[in-house]
Amino acid sequence: MGLEPQPAALAETRGLCQTLRGDTCPRASPVTRLLCLGTADAFAHGARGNACYWIEDAAGVVAVDFGPTALMQARRFGCDLARLDGLYLTHLHGDHIGGLPVLLVELVYGQKRTRPFTIAGPPGTQARVEALWAATFPSVLEGLPFEFRWLEWDVPGAVPALGRTVHAIQARHDRLAVATSLRIDGPRHRLAFSGDTGWQPELAALVQGADLFVCECSGVDTGYWGHLSVAELVQHRDELQVGRLVVSHLSVESRAAAHRTAALRATVADDGLVLTLR
Ligand SMILES: [Zn+2]
Repeated sequence: MGLEPQPAALAETRGLCQTLRGDTCPRASPVTRLLCLGTADAFAHGARGNACYWIEDAAGVVAVDFGPTALMQARRFGCDLARLDGLYLTHLHGDHIGGLPVLLVELVYGQKRTRPFTIAGPPGTQARVEALWAATFPSVLEGLPFEFRWLEWDVPGAVPALGRTVHAIQARHDRLAVATSLRIDGPRHRLAFSGDTGWQPELAALVQGADLFVCECSGVDTGYWGHLSVAELVQHRDELQVGRLVVSHLSVESRAAAHRTAALRATVADDGLVLTLR
């Protein structure tokens, strides 16, 4: 588990996701895989995708966030959408849920899905996502051939969701919407996601002991309350007691700064990066 004294063994591969093709994680597998499907900020800077992380572990397959580019990236990197059990959403901004309209038509017409699909997110998730679908594909919602199941985080709190326990705290991001940071306690490993947030001590407490922490890093320098930067993460690096810090949600400038800043002690995420925990 994540709090064992020895850190989880972690392997890293880049490029097309060969490990997810024909070598899937069977249930009861001790392996947890994280595939980065979108590592750019809201503006798709660097011609990279918006936020989406594909997770395979012994509990099944789930994605964290589903930005506008997520479906295209799932195809690009060979993800089997039929295996996707559901989504965990950090917050409801467009760069994190903008792929949900085309996911809906993919599930209904492409996959011809019959088994339930779970969407878990912050308070207001069901109403917001259903409004998004009603605005974009209203007729698809009539006579759905499978069930959507909805879960909304206790904030702060912990909710069982799709075989894992998801701990949520309120992020510092949007005063008009509940954004969250999440720690996902899976069967074998603990993965944490900052979502979009400015710095707060509660973030360090949430992620403590996680095997992997995927942290947003939108900026280079301090100065904006609602996002994190390379400078702030260096400043607080010793407070982040995690097996591996992975920075993502990057601009062109913050990606370059993260690569050249050794004190960050982080893996710089890229589209197609696969991190395997054993
Ligand atoms: Zn974002």
